Amino acid sequence: MAGTEVIAVIGAGIGGLAAAIRLAAAGRAVVLFEAAAAPGGKMRALPSAAGPVDAGPTVLTLRDVFDDLFAAAGARLEEHLALDPLPVLARHLWSDGCRLDLYPDPEANAAAIRAFAGPRGEAEFRAFHRHTAALRAAFEGSVMRAPGPRAGALALAALARPALWPALLPGVSLAADLARRFTDPRLRQLFGRYATYVGGMPQAAPAVLALIWQAEAAGVWAVRGGMAGLAAALAGLARGLGVDIRLRTPVERIEVAGGRVAAVHPRGGARLAVAAAVFNGDPRALRLGLLGPDLVPAVPPAAVAPRSLSARVWAFAGRPAGVDLAYHTVFFADAPDEEFGPLARGETPAAPTIYVCAQDRAGYVCAQDRAGYVCAQDRAGPLRPPLERFEMILNAPPLPHASPEEPETCRQTTFSRLARMGLTFETLPGTDRLTRPQDFAALFPGSAGALYGRSPAGVMASFLRPRAQTRIPGLILAGGGVHPGPGVPMAALSGLHAAQAVLARRRARGST
Ligand SMILES: Cc1cc2nc3c(=O)[nH]c(=O)nc-3n(C[C@H](O)[C@H](O)[C@H](O)COP(=O)(O)OP(=O)(O)OC[C@H]3O[C@@H](n4cnc5c(N)ncnc54)[C@H](O)[C@@H]3O)c2cc1C
Repeated sequence: MAGTEVIAVIGAGIGGLAAAIRLAAAGRAVVLFEAAAAPGGKMRALPSAAGPVDAGPTVLTLRDVFDDLFAAAGARLEEHLALDPLPVLARHLWSDGCRLDLYPDPEANAAAIRAFAGPRGEAEFRAFHRHTAALRAAFEGSVMRAPGPRAGALALAALARPALWPALLPGVSLAADLARRFTDPRLRQLFGRYATYVGGMPQAAPAVLALIWQAEAAGVWAVRGGMAGLAAALAGLARGLGVDIRLRTPVERIEVAGGRVAAVHPRGGARLAVAAAVFNGDPRALRLGLLGPDLVPAVPPAAVAPRSLSARVWAFAGRPAGVDLAYHTVFFADAPDEEFGPLARGETPAAPTIYVCAQDRAGYVCAQDRAGYVCAQDRAGPLRPPLERFEMILNAPPLPHASPEEPETCRQTTFSRLARMGLTFETLPGTDRLTRPQDFAALFPGSAGALYGRSPAGVMASFLRPRAQTRIPGLILAGGGVHPGPGVPMAALSGLHAAQAVLARRRARGST
């Protein structure tokens, strides 16, 4: 009878939580094993003097993916989570004092870019916005939301849009494409940075990744209390559907018998016979044999290598001065080469771009005036507590390249550069507030510290990423290292595909 066979989900990252919710909502018995003490995986928070501070993702886009996930569980997102749409998508600052705010409104962006880069910059932006909207239309159904990239559907979508062809040619990098589209090097730098959202570098990432702009342009939300609240809400939803969540319980081995998944072996616990296992860890862990030798062939080598970027992440509470920070503020390197040159050589950049999330600055309302958009009064009471929470992210190479940078060197790099650009803190955080590539490697086994799975470099990257269904019957994958790729909404979509793969297999066996 359906429901008596247990499905194991291994990992309570976003992909694992989404898969567990959808399987439980379909009436399956689900046991979710998580090695860490809290659900969320990379979506984690660390304690600080001002409360839990995000130390993982901060930019929440494609809200509809989460509306759908809650709806699949018979719930409404807004009943479980307070989301604030951000009036400023991100503030961008350069060391010469230039500043550009971008908004969830193409006209406001066109006006801001005209003021920043003149009428030519505005015209180029308008063309870029149209181009990326067409890219999104072509890729949304055929790649992003499909269980795997559908080459035929993508070819048809591209054929209908000849203007896209130059950006789809093999060997055309995002940096090269942006150099054709924008005269102003600052705009090339700004839109090239979107490659890092999926762990890539603009000079190696395919030009199609420009479509990430469309995800952001459609709106960015702040989760009140921090992004980790999304993971907590999803875990609550899963428990409400009967998912048995076992925290601090790593799975050491997935047992294969008769050529298919038969059981999982949690550390210190009893063998659990399962009908299927959804693995939400890094797929490279399987390739390395960390879940048992039988699973090594589950994913081909090219599905997990080369690796994406890692990061150095600060998470702390402090009192800032000198710069009017938005929720998301980017302090750009003087030239992209200063950051991406060393990264391409596997070195830690000495003068990188620094991204700052001021987690307590959500809840603004926006009023439009003649100059564009201005942020006004916070509707949720006092705007900023005296001690605010901050996450800062600096790109870094993954292991084994990541040079063993001293935490104190990173502190100097980060805070002296911010001070040169005007941002100071009353007291600097201690080096214990820093997470480095080697720490990420330990937190996410098999990842080598790479935070986004396989590198997105090259036009074939999205075709090489593993899909939910593996070569081993009963072993299903979900997560940012799996199609459709990294990022919180993408990992949630991978959970949908994983659940569908489990349910389709059971239907094929006539067990529903
Ligand atoms: C610093 C940082 C900033 C980011 N910024 C953004 C952003 O702003 N916006 C965005 O959309 N994305 C961002 N991302 C990417 C995004 O966080 C990830 O793509 C997404 O959260 C990955 O989810 P996942 O499903 O792959 O699971 P993961 O988060 O990778 O979690 C996997 C879980 O599996 C568990 N696990 C692994 N092996 C086992 C085992 N054997 N037994 C039990 N448990 C196991 C791990 O403990 C972990 O909890 C960021 C990531 C980082 C690190």
